[in-house]
Amino acid sequence: MDLIPAPSPNFDARKAPPDMIVLHYTGMRGGEAALARLRDPAAKVSAHYLVEEDGRVFSLVAEERRAWHAGKSFWRGENDINSVSIGVEIVNPGHEFGYRPFPDAQIAAVIELLGEVRGRWDVADARILGHSDVAPGRKQDPGELFPWKRLAEAGHGLWVEPPASPGAPLSLGDEGTGVFALQAGLTRLGYDSAPSGRFDEGTATIVEAFQRHWRPARVDGVADGETRARLVNLLRAAA
Ligand SMILES: [Zn+2]
Repeated sequence: MDLIPAPSPNFDARKAPPDMIVLHYTGMRGGEAALARLRDPAAKVSAHYLVEEDGRVFSLVAEERRAWHAGKSFWRGENDINSVSIGVEIVNPGHEFGYRPFPDAQIAAVIELLGEVRGRWDVADARILGHSDVAPGRKQDPGELFPWKRLAEAGHGLWVEPPASPGAPLSLGDEGTGVFALQAGLTRLGYDSAPSGRFDEGTATIVEAFQRHWRPARVDGVADGETRARLVNLLRAAA
C-alpha cells in the first residue's frame, strides 16, 4: 500500500522483534494535530503508523524500532509493550472530543496495513489488541465503536459470538468461585488481573476493558452471562 513518509524522532531500540499489534485512536480534534504531536520531540510519543479518516496512511517510525505509544501497560506477563509491538494510531476525536464511528475507508486501510505488517512479522490473532486492553482504566482507545468484528472477519484478531442462553451476572461486591474463575480467565487471556475471588474495583476496571473490545454493547464493568461466555469462547479461540 502507499505510505506517506512522516518520520518521527521519538523511538529507541527494541528488545525483541514485534509479535503484537496495538491499535489506538488519536483522541485529538484533528488528524493533522495528532500527526504533529507524534512527531514533536518534546511530546516524547509516537507510533509506527497513523491512519487518517480518508484512508491515507502515514509512516512515522520504522517497524524495527521501538515507538512510544503504549506507556505503562501489561499483557501476558509483558510490561514493556512498546518493545514487542507495532503501534497504529487511528484518527478519531475519541471520548474526550466527540467519539464517532470509524469511516469505511479508514477501516479498509487499517485492514490492508495489518495484512502487510503481518506479512513481515509473526503476529498471532490473539495479540492484536487495543490500547485499552494493555492499559485498562488508564486508556479507552480505540473504544467500543471500533469494528473488531469486521477486523476479525477480514482475518485479523479474535472475535466470538455469544451463546444462546448466558448465565448469571457477576458484579462489584460478589465473592466466590465464579468470581475467581472469571478473574483467572481474564488473567489467562492476558489482562493484569490477579485472581482473588472478590469482585473489587480492579476487577470491574478489567471487565470494562474486556467489554470495550469484545462486548461493546455493554461497557459497564458488570460481568453478565454474555460477557463471561465470550471470555470462555475467546480462551478457546486463543488456545
Ligand atoms: Zn492509545
